[in-house]
Amino acid sequence: MTEKNLFCSITGMPNMGKSTLLNRLIGFDLAIISPKAETTRSRITGVLTEDGIQYVFLDTPGYNKPKTKLDRHLVKTVRDTFSDVDCALFLTYPKEHFLEYEKKLLDELSEKGLPVILGINKADTVSSEIAQRCLVSLMEQYGFADGCCFSALDGTGTDVLMEKLYAFAVEGPHYFPDDTLTDIPEKYVVSEIVRERLLFNLRDELPHGCAVEVMRFKERENSDIVDIDVNIYCERDSHKGMIIGKGGSMLKKIGTEARKKAEDFLGCRVNLQCWVKVRNDWRNSEFDLKDLGF
Ligand code: GDP
Ligand code: MG
Repeated sequence: MTEKNLFCSITGMPNMGKSTLLNRLIGFDLAIISPKAETTRSRITGVLTEDGIQYVFLDTPGYNKPKTKLDRHLVKTVRDTFSDVDCALFLTYPKEHFLEYEKKLLDELSEKGLPVILGINKADTVSSEIAQRCLVSLMEQYGFADGCCFSALDGTGTDVLMEKLYAFAVEGPHYFPDDTLTDIPEKYVVSEIVRERLLFNLRDELPHGCAVEVMRFKERENSDIVDIDVNIYCERDSHKGMIIGKGGSMLKKIGTEARKKAEDFLGCRVNLQCWVKVRNDWRNSEFDLKDLGF
């Protein structure tokens, strides 16, 4: 069989379900999902190899008007992903008109001359008649290469989406070994796991001023244990208190949950130590952003 590849960037405004879809398509809980906007900070590559074709999906941070330096880094990451893909999947939800910022993003995509596939996600929230009507209406407003409705949450219609994507595959040898799920370094996945548990447990209390950095990632000789030390950076002493919790209970909970997920991902035992540090206003400091790998 001739091998084929498809590089596809999943794009759209925050909260449209890009990360949920990526997880659904590759069948692994990889990208961070949270109801809070902008939980996806870097581009994430998910890989799926099926029937001789390798799909490489790039999940991008939500596209929005930049407010802080971190936001500007995010917008740049989104732009960078457009230059090396075969097509873009533009995600939105069932409605009849595009939002202001969606139009801007679509203009930018058409300037690149990329085929854009319209994906109306969250079709489970409306009747199939309404979903179809939205599809017809939105398809008319841009030169989309194709389009369909589906639900990333329950999986309905994602098989049709895969068939549509298939049409844009390009002949060539696969870029990654066929059992690859992602090209993200393990260290980075672990830091995202910790950040996800942090956001999950402190959902309402903690604003978005948190970053996680893996300081040590070391396999123990002659054993199946990996020792991992992570620093959790927050903006204020009061946040530090919240993260640590009464008698350290919150940090312990976050650490235990993150350890289990990390063990799942790495397929070995993990000894995870978390430390909480205050870095004032790290979101606006160029130095700290570079330091943390943004
Ligand atoms: P992203 O910001 O575009 O990456 O969006 P996420 O994948 O983080 O999803 C944002 C929110 O929308 C989460 O609460 C998801 O559970 C929810 N969501 C995603 N896909 C669907 C869907 O198909 N149906 C419904 N009802 N909710 C969804
Ligand atoms: Mg996301």
